[in-house]
Amino acid sequence: MQSPNFGARPSGERITLAVLHSISLPPGHYGGDAVERLFTNRLDATEHPYYEGLRGLQVSAHFFVRRDGHVLQFVSCDDRAWHAGVSQWGGREQCNDYSIGIELEGIEGEGFEGAQYAAVTHLLRALARRYPIAAVVGHEHIAPGRTGDPGPGFDWAAIDRKLGSRPRVATQVLDGHRERSA
Ligand SMILES: [Zn+2]
Repeated sequence: MQSPNFGARPSGERITLAVLHSISLPPGHYGGDAVERLFTNRLDATEHPYYEGLRGLQVSAHFFVRRDGHVLQFVSCDDRAWHAGVSQWGGREQCNDYSIGIELEGIEGEGFEGAQYAAVTHLLRALARRYPIAAVVGHEHIAPGRTGDPGPGFDWAAIDRKLGSRPRVATQVLDGHRERSA
């Protein structure tokens, strides 16, 4: 499924970051097609009170991972998807320029499914073979104070263990996760 919400990356840009998010529409409801409709500008704002706040919003992600681990792609990885917004990582702003955005069907504060961890691990490994991805982070880490996804229910240590050597979850992310779980 192709999203119209994308653009070209800056010329010569290297893809060095993967950003994990969580989303569900309406929030906390799983299994419908509202996220696909949001990313393809076909969400009917009158269908649910929450959707009114999304009216006219043009967003996308490269991938969406459903609760059962099924992966949908909306934007070519070579193009720039619109997932991060105002953001910064390692002193560089505009993370959309140099990142791949992966949305997991979920909600901040709740856990994620084993099938989602397996699918994300598989996806990140495949992406790291194709692009020089140096770090995996959450949206909450590149836009702190503005976003909180994927949230405390996401097990960063588990995905880092699954990934092994490459790509790695950013050290700062793992440190924050350990502090929070302690
Ligand atoms: Zn996000």
